[in-house]
Formats: sequence, structure tokens, C-alpha cells
Amino acid sequence: MFNKILVANRGEIALRVIRAAREMGIATVAVHSTADADAMHVRMADESVCIGPPSSTQSYLSFPAIISACEITGAEAIHPGYGFLSENAQFVQIVEDHDLTFIGPTAEHIRVMGDKITAKDTMKALGVPCVPGSDGGVPTLAEAQKLGEEMGYPVIIKATAGGGGRGMKVAQTAADMESAFQTARAEGKAAFGNDEVYIEKYLTTPRHIEIQVFGDGKGRAVHLGERDCSLQRRHQKVFEEAPGPAISAEERAAIGKVCADAVAKINYIGAGTIEFLYENGEFYFIEMNTRLQVEHPVTEAIFGVDLVREQIQVAAGMEMSFVQEDLRINGHSIEVRLNAEKLPNFSPSPGTISQYHAPGGLGVRMDSALYDGYSIPPYYDSLIGKLIVHGRDRAEALARLNRALGELIIDGIDTTVPLFHALLAEKDIHTGDYNIHWLEHWLEKQDT
Ligand code: ADP
Repeated sequence: MFNKILVANRGEIALRVIRAAREMGIATVAVHSTADADAMHVRMADESVCIGPPSSTQSYLSFPAIISACEITGAEAIHPGYGFLSENAQFVQIVEDHDLTFIGPTAEHIRVMGDKITAKDTMKALGVPCVPGSDGGVPTLAEAQKLGEEMGYPVIIKATAGGGGRGMKVAQTAADMESAFQTARAEGKAAFGNDEVYIEKYLTTPRHIEIQVFGDGKGRAVHLGERDCSLQRRHQKVFEEAPGPAISAEERAAIGKVCADAVAKINYIGAGTIEFLYENGEFYFIEMNTRLQVEHPVTEAIFGVDLVREQIQVAAGMEMSFVQEDLRINGHSIEVRLNAEKLPNFSPSPGTISQYHAPGGLGVRMDSALYDGYSIPPYYDSLIGKLIVHGRDRAEALARLNRALGELIIDGIDTTVPLFHALLAEKDIHTGDYNIHWLEHWLEKQDT
């Protein structure tokens, strides 16, 4: 097992990793930009190294700065969290070239899954059901138009390198195709340096269902059921739950097995998430994320496992702590993402926290790096915390969420907390009757 690991991230996810390492008796190194000198992850780690100025390209994304921090401190492995370098195959290669361990999958798996066209081809070959669409990339508008006619509108044009909801455009009718095609290409080029796009049938009322998988890198893998992340704004998740209210035990076992078998076959190592759209009882693969997801705690809650501990364990060459038969679902869990944003426009709201009080009690987990007097820097993602609740069933989890939100105090800045108070007043949230468009429609209604 490692003696010391470096956490190449910030905010709540850096704390999450530090906590797991500490329970395992592993020393931790935090890295930080000059803007994060007072951040909680710096305070909580055993050691810290300043790796550059506020701009993340010169700090949290800087390969030399992070590798040097490992060499200075004697850290043997790097946990990337999510975002930043977590899905950067080139970084993984450099880590390995320096005889350090990357706590995550291989560079090759990241490369294959990071390109959505290759990922889809790979999954299709492994027997995973996919959204109907173009056979690979679509280089010209003329081909896109031809495909649109053949497949029937609406269609979605996606940048193969896209992520975080960027590089995707819907063409509702043939008249939208030209602008959707050009915009998706331009976004792919600007944000990811790659303008290749592909086309999929646009599903009109699906749920977003994702399967958590975990592999040991030696041909063994398990699934940890699904998360329903259908409540999204601009293709970004805001409310996630497990198990999914619309998924039966039989469906879970069947799609879970397809996913576990697929990742076992490619000797996948560590945590991964296979994302699907689910409509009329069918699953359609959209992408695989080769990292820990923001919403992993709902899975941890219902299975009673620590996914970060497992990641560290398999990266050190040890076995996973469980086999498929050990994994039993207990109750229901919900996570809400708390962002430093001002409603109704979700505009960024960085600033100083004048008062912070985290909710507690049975079945409540608050993952956040906030503290009284903390100044949220304007340079990074606006996620400031995740409130996760666990109950014996969905109704209890919802009641607990309502209670915990009532206890939460974050003063001094605007947050998305009022959104969740409002959502809990909606019947559809209680019946679980929603799809990926529900939240956008609901938000439009609030504006009028
Ligand atoms: P990203 O990598 O940017 O997260 P994804 O491919 O995972 O992009 O898709 C994100 C979200 O976009 C999905 O959860 C869903 O809401 C919507 N989406 C993606 N593909 C389709 C599709 N074929 N039909 C309908 N909605 C889609």
C-alpha cells in the first residue's frame, strides 16, 4: 500500500479523497494555486505545495507543477478527483513515466472512452446497446443533412471530444441542421481542440440512467446499480438519486451485468460510469466516464461502500473488497448539488461566507469545503457542496432532504439552495415522474 498520495484537485472532492486516505493510514499532500492558499483541502492535508497562480492552466492543470510536487514530497501516487486532469490520458502517461501511480484507469482506457465516437464503437462491440446514429464521424454538412433525412428529426449533433454539456446541439427540423452542425463543430474546436462531430437520434422523453462499474484491472468487474440523474439544467446534473425510481430489479441486474461484463473484458481498473438514456424500457449508451463522478456518494450510501478506498486499493495492486454477490441495495439516497450561483439566472456568485452551518443527524452527509469566513475564489467551478441524504425508502430520503436543507445555513453569497426547496414542493419530484427535460420546462414556467 502507498505511504503517501498527492491529491491533484481542490474543493469538496479533494477533502473526499483526503478523508479516505486518512482512514487507510495514508499520508496526503494537497496542491493549491495562490488563490487557494486558505482553502480547506490545504488545511486538512498532511502537507501542501503551492503549484502556481490562480489560473487553473498554470496550476491544477500543470503537469510539471504536479509531478514536481510529488517529487518534492515523496508522494507515490496521484488521485485526480473529477474534472481537471482526471480524464487526461497524456497526463497519465507522464505520471507513469515518472514511476508514479495514477489512481484511476490506464491512459489507453481514458483515450478510448474520451473520444465519444471510439467509445461508442467499443461499447457496441462489447454488446452494450447504443443510441441509433451515424456510423462514426460526420465530416460535411451535406452528409449531416442526408443522415437527418434518413434518421428523421429531431437529431443531436455531438462533438466527439465534448464534455460537461458542451459541444452538443439539437436540430429539431431540417431547417436547424446547418446552424446546429456548425455550432457543435465550432464548440468542439474552441473548447476541446477537435471539431469532429457525430449524429444521434434525439430522444424526446428519456431519463438519464448511469451504471457505476468497478474493475480490478485483471478481468474482474462488478456493477453497483444505477443512478438516475435526469434532473438537469443545460445538460448538467443538479439532483441525483439511487436507486432510480423507474428501474426494476430485473432491469438493473440485466443492464448491470452487460456493463460489468464489458469492463471486465477490457481489464478496466478502478471506478467508471457508463451513461445511458432510458426510454420505453430500453437503455441507450451515450458515454463512459473513466473517473469518480460528482454523484458517487448516492451509490456509496445505498451499498455501504467507500469507492475512493477501493480506487486506492486497486491502484496499489490489491483486490477489491467485494464481489457482485456482496453488493446489496439498502434504502434510497439523494444528492443535491449546491452551487455559488444567483437564481433565477444561475449567474456565478463568488464571495465571502459570513456564516456556514452544515446539516447533520441520521442519514445526512454534507461534502463541502466551506467554512465560516471562507472566500470563494472566482476562478473555478461554482460547485460549493453536495448534500446527500439516505433513508429506508425514497419517501424517507425526500423528507430527510427537506429537513436537512432547512438546517443548512450558507450566508454571504447566493446559492442554489432555494431551487431545491422549490423542487421539493413539486408533486412530480415526489412521484419520481420526470425525464431529462422536466427541469428546463419547470424553470421556464417559473420565469413567466
Ligand atoms: P457530456 O459529455 O457533455 O456530459 P453526454 O453525451 O453525457 O454529454 O450527454 C449529456 C446529456 O445530454 C444527457 O444526460 C442528456 O440529457 C442529453 N443528451 C445526450 N445525448 C442525447 C440524445 N441522443 N437524445 C437526447 N438527449 C441527449
